[in-house]
Amino acid sequence: MSSNETTSVSVAIIGAGFGGLAAAIELERNDIRDYTVFEKGDGVGGVWRANHYPGAACDVPSPTYSYSFELETEWSQRFGTQAEIRAYLERTAVKCGVAPKVRTNTEIVAATFDEGSGRWQVELADGEKQWFDGLICATGQLSRPKIPALDGLKTFAGKHFHSAEWDDSVDITGKRVAIVGSGASAVQIVPAIADRVRELHVIQRSPNWVGNKWNHKSNPRSRRLLRTLPGLARAQHNLECFHQRLPLLVPHRNRQGRRRLARLSHRLRPSHRPRRPHRLPNRFPHKVIRRWLFSSGPSPVPARHDLPRGFVGLRRLRG
Ligand SMILES: Cc1cc2nc3c(=O)[nH]c(=O)nc-3n(C[C@H](O)[C@H](O)[C@H](O)COP(=O)(O)OP(=O)(O)OC[C@H]3O[C@@H](n4cnc5c(N)ncnc54)[C@H](O)[C@@H]3O)c2cc1C
Repeated sequence: MSSNETTSVSVAIIGAGFGGLAAAIELERNDIRDYTVFEKGDGVGGVWRANHYPGAACDVPSPTYSYSFELETEWSQRFGTQAEIRAYLERTAVKCGVAPKVRTNTEIVAATFDEGSGRWQVELADGEKQWFDGLICATGQLSRPKIPALDGLKTFAGKHFHSAEWDDSVDITGKRVAIVGSGASAVQIVPAIADRVRELHVIQRSPNWVGNKWNHKSNPRSRRLLRTLPGLARAQHNLECFHQRLPLLVPHRNRQGRRRLARLSHRLRPSHRPRRPHRLPNRFPHKVIRRWLFSSGPSPVPARHDLPRGFVGLRRLRG
């Protein structure tokens, strides 16, 4: 295919998170300039734009959580904060020249493939229709917060919101607060607000495994070294990636290796230890489908909880 033919391809990308931006950058690099990134939110960043709850941060080391072609050297800590990740994505979109092609506040409501022309018709929320040769769906899987239809929610007198739609206008200082769920977001929110609220209840249906995050602040000297020493940022990225994938190197049929991993995972602890110990789902957490959580500090989820007996599901709200 000649370079002229390549540049004539038009592409629609849905979503301006990590995935959509990466796709746009790759198109730019391949001289495909006729593309539009449709984003229903008011800016780029995806989940890192939307989720700004207290304590929001990366839960994998930041050197691994950045584009391999745009390594970041300025993380303030090993696990970058939400604000830093959002700023990194905004900066990268501008630097790589894709920002002007992002149409924000524009939701795609339908995409139809036309067999005859071999093209895609996308429909915008305002009814506008556009045709493209290619379609890249980068809508993510966590961009539509879901609040379960709880009995009593409509009449509940207190404020309530999803962690992905944190309401900054609500001052929780000195308030009685309940957090429903004890997953990756709760494990960050609880330590961040525990000292501010009057009472904190964490409602969890089943336990998670929590390991130490080994987070640490980066210092200006190490950041300068990463910036200036050729290859150091790349070496750090590769080393962290290797470290992350280490457990995957032990196949399931390697029983001895798995046993060693299990011994290692004893360092993990359940997110909430009830008075009467609950039988945890599996002695070998690396086999459990639930992902491990990581948090700094001695007792991340139950920092202050007032539901000491076991695991409950929330059914009804009153008040
Ligand atoms: C709070 C939180 C913390 C996380 N932390 C980590 C972590 O530490 N490490 C890790 O590996 N992963 C983490 N994740 C997972 C994270 O979802 C992925 O790592 C990654 O950021 C997903 O990027 P994405 O581009 O695929 O999707 P998203 O970031 O979800 O972006 C999708 C975008 O598509 C837009 N969109 C969706 N539908 C439409 C439509 N119809 N029309 C127009 N626009 C649309 C959305 O508004 C959104 O901006 C976290 C997720 C959350 C929610």
